[in-house]
Amino acid sequence: MQVSLSDYVRAAGVTTDLVNTAPGVWSGMDKLPDTTALDAFLREHDITAGAHELAGADLDGVRELRASTRTVIDNPDPAQLVSGATSLTAGLGSPTLAIDETGLSSWAVTAGENTPVAQRLALVCAVGILGVVHTLGAGRFRPCVAPTCSGAFIDTSRPGRRRYCMPGICGNRVNVANHRARTRST
Ligand SMILES: [Zn+2]
Repeated sequence: MQVSLSDYVRAAGVTTDLVNTAPGVWSGMDKLPDTTALDAFLREHDITAGAHELAGADLDGVRELRASTRTVIDNPDPAQLVSGATSLTAGLGSPTLAIDETGLSSWAVTAGENTPVAQRLALVCAVGILGVVHTLGAGRFRPCVAPTCSGAFIDTSRPGRRRYCMPGICGNRVNVANHRARTRST
């Protein structure tokens, strides 16, 4: 599996989705309760599981990664973000040049077939975090503003004014609540 170092927007999206699967972020449930859910998450984000079947150890590894990634993005200081993201990928390496069908090349990092899925995901999270620090700045790492949500997100939008970790869920709830409040007061 190769992760392009220039595709940080996709990687940051995966990172945001991963941290918000944690129990307590939304409705209290762990959105990665078992390997079936992990498999669905990986497919949804186009991350190959590698040579072996997903096992309990993979799930444990991904949950640990989820917690450490959240710790990294909760502290939007550039130096802390860089050292935190770099430590996620300790043990991985092999920067290379990936060349696509059209002959265009981009910097990439390779994860071997036997690399466990948690390390594959860690690589994606690190690319997302580092790419955003480099291109958009540390101010793009923010907590969700919905009062009933404890999620966090990386804002890769052009204007940089995103407010919710899951706009379709937290954002909608806030809009509905505001609408109800307005209707009541009139
Ligand atoms: Zn939220």
